[in-house]
Amino acid sequence: MIGAAGVHKSYEVGRDQVEILHGISLEVRETEMVAVMGPSGSGKSTLMYCLAGLEDATQGQVVVNGVDLAGRSRAELAKMRRSELGFMFQSYNLVPTLTASENVELPYLLAGTKPPKDLVRETLEQVGLDERRDARPSSMSGGEQQRVALARVMAQQPKVLFADEPTGALDTRMGGIVLEALGRIAHSPGQCALIVTHDPNVAAECDRVLFLRDGRLVQELTRPDAAAVAAQLTALTPGA
Ligand code: ADP
Ligand code: MG
Repeated sequence: MIGAAGVHKSYEVGRDQVEILHGISLEVRETEMVAVMGPSGSGKSTLMYCLAGLEDATQGQVVVNGVDLAGRSRAELAKMRRSELGFMFQSYNLVPTLTASENVELPYLLAGTKPPKDLVRETLEQVGLDERRDARPSSMSGGEQQRVALARVMAQQPKVLFADEPTGALDTRMGGIVLEALGRIAHSPGQCALIVTHDPNVAAECDRVLFLRDGRLVQELTRPDAAAVAAQLTALTPGA
């Protein structure tokens, strides 16, 4: 459902073009949950932005849910993101002026529809935030914000879910709850998920783990255990 072929991404820094991604090819199939790991600065977030159509690849092809992103207008990409893609990102996350409830409802509002009755409330309840439904992001902890973002994708049931460090601000127990919920989304028919994580225990719950170093995919493990993931990460980390 996600296909990337030879994706390059450069940014202009001053007068220079700095290439961050050097030809990434990958595939995430229906009902798959795939993790992306790699040292800080290796290009994980940039890769997610390119796959989600938030940034244009400089070169190469990205196909998401059957749509080739190249040549699509900003408006077309935005429409696709609203209707088919779900995000749990550090940035591009909650709308600060909206309450928790409204943030969960947002994908429906943007699509011009209404969520099924009680869905928003039930979803916030499931992530333990029923009492906080009228709170705005600025009054919430990082972990609470992450749970609102989770509630939003749970209510939305996106076809393709992108999550960047979705358990980063959570304790082990809540991290487990989030991971289980993401797994349920990813493993549903017609859906999948790509998850950036630093946590070998999170990666070990994924179907495959892709390792990025300096903007290149250098390794892939299928159904690894946490120890194998940790060993691979150590091998990839400079100075380790
Ligand atoms: P990761 O998520 O793996 O930590 P990023 O994708 O955030 O890595 O960043 C990869 C590299 O790209 C870093 O060196 C970062 O400084 C650089 N980078 C990211 N965004 C931009 C940008 N908008 N302009 C210039 N450089 C960028
Ligand atoms: Mg990042």
